[in-house]
Amino acid sequence: MAENVEGTYRNTIGSIVSWALFRAAIVIGLALLLIEYVRWIDYSTWVALTLIMIYAAVIHPMQVQYRIYQDETKNVIDGTLCASCRYFEPTGVLCSKLDEHVSEDVIPCGGELWEPK
Ligand code: SF4
Repeated sequence: MAENVEGTYRNTIGSIVSWALFRAAIVIGLALLLIEYVRWIDYSTWVALTLIMIYAAVIHPMQVQYRIYQDETKNVIDGTLCASCRYFEPTGVLCSKLDEHVSEDVIPCGGELWEPK
């Protein structure tokens, strides 16, 4: 599993969405500047360029980050003690009881708070 040195994940659902929103805001700003200041551009070209920027800067990076997230969390979601615990939240790979990320090597409670689903 590819985790960073702190044992947390490079991407979480929250970070993927927040970065996508951040990039979308930049793309919207650029699109508005484009339609305002670039005189040669007509509306249909502007729409096409905006859609290309949205795909290139928002959607494609989200897909890549989500694939990395799935790779990183697959083993945790499939085969750890936490995966069978009622406090485990697979969408965030999180222990809801302790509000900590779970990894393949680290069970935050050490198994003491485990309860079946
Ligand atoms: S309570 Fe313990 S076993 Fe259950 S999800 Fe949290 S860390 Fe994992």
